[in-house]
Amino acid sequence: MNVTTLPKPPRVGLVSLGCPKNLVDSERIMTKLRSDGYDMSPDYAGADVVLVNTCGFLDSAKEESLEAIGEAIAENGRVVVTGCMGKEADVIRNRFPDVLAITGAHEYEQVVGAVHEAAPMPANAFLNLVPEGGLKLTPRHYSYLKISEGCNHRCAFCIIPHLRGDLVSRRPDAILREAEKLVAAGTKELLVISQDTSAYGVDIRHKAFPLKSGGEVRAHMTDLSRELGKLGAWVRLHYVYPYPHVDNVIPLMAEGLVLPYLDIPFQHASPDVLRRMRRPANDAKVLQRIRSWREQVPDLAIRSSFVVGFPGETDQDFAYLLAWLEEAQLDRVGAFKFEPVEGAPATSMEDQVPADLKQERYEAVMALSARISAEKLAAKVGSTLDVLIDAVDAETGGATGRSKADAPEIDGEVHLRDAGGLRPGEIVSVRVEDADEHDLYGVPFETMAS
Ligand code: SF4
Repeated sequence: MNVTTLPKPPRVGLVSLGCPKNLVDSERIMTKLRSDGYDMSPDYAGADVVLVNTCGFLDSAKEESLEAIGEAIAENGRVVVTGCMGKEADVIRNRFPDVLAITGAHEYEQVVGAVHEAAPMPANAFLNLVPEGGLKLTPRHYSYLKISEGCNHRCAFCIIPHLRGDLVSRRPDAILREAEKLVAAGTKELLVISQDTSAYGVDIRHKAFPLKSGGEVRAHMTDLSRELGKLGAWVRLHYVYPYPHVDNVIPLMAEGLVLPYLDIPFQHASPDVLRRMRRPANDAKVLQRIRSWREQVPDLAIRSSFVVGFPGETDQDFAYLLAWLEEAQLDRVGAFKFEPVEGAPATSMEDQVPADLKQERYEAVMALSARISAEKLAAKVGSTLDVLIDAVDAETGGATGRSKADAPEIDGEVHLRDAGGLRPGEIVSVRVEDADEHDLYGVPFETMAS
């Protein structure tokens, strides 16, 4: 009889100081670690790592916290510090340079991540209820990576800030840790999402955080994108507003660190409509900038969405939008008819556009963007593209995938014939044979990576 011996899970010791609020934080952290499979240790000797949850309310409490850290270092040596004294990381590091990690109060994700790093769970299918990369609703080969929550803008048609609050950015080191795990678990494409990716880090003043590999990373879209690009997966940026610093991610695309793809929700082009929409980064020179981006990265694909029939949108505004779209030659365009939403300022604006006019304008935008898309895709016939395989059809022997210009669910697809032997998640080189308004058709001729 074969007997499987289960590896022992790591054990965590805890020293919790301070007030009941700190105690509740300790309980939350330990509950999460327990659900991740960790055991608790009642003493220093049996712990693989000791967590000290500090208090910094008074000088005497700070001194008590420092003494507790010193004792844990002396008795065990592997110490993670969290709690109020996390704000005074320099004081702790000066006195105890061997501390493994320091996180602040309520930084649950970070402190749990630090314990995972200090005492990794052994990979074991019998012990780990949740795979390394977390539970996913997407296929294994692509993953959404949320970098912030909420939004500081107040667009007139949107209630997201009301529902989710102002921008709260995640720490870049925690995002990178999550991304590394996803890539290790088989993710080939990281889709960076947020309400406003270009504003990432504004709330934490683009602070720099240490990386475990050495050096540091700033909480800033460009810096985070560069680090994500080093992980070896495709990195696709969504919901990027055209703030001036967006120009700095274009060289990362030229270097191949980030996919040549920008999802910019322009929503309109007419300066009057954009002003009434209260849109961020309402830049009159955006067409010029798009031209400059394409000079640097000729295969850059730009996707955007537009709202037609916003209150007060005149025939001139709409004509401006159509002319702008013709000039911008965006690769992918989604259009929406303005819909009043309870609680959004635009709902009670005067000059609501009649439904039949909205429909007419919607159809005009869709027809124009379908024509532009068909022309752009036709120009790819005969070229060779890298395609990430999403699905294989055993019956027909074909497969469906996406090029670097196609985000899952929202953009087009590449349909392959003769895809024998391919598997989802593989990246293959494909010769494009045909195109229609949205999709490409081709044949693989070389497996690039598995
Ligand atoms: S539409 Fe405007 S307010 Fe709403 S999430 Fe986007 S940027 Fe923020």
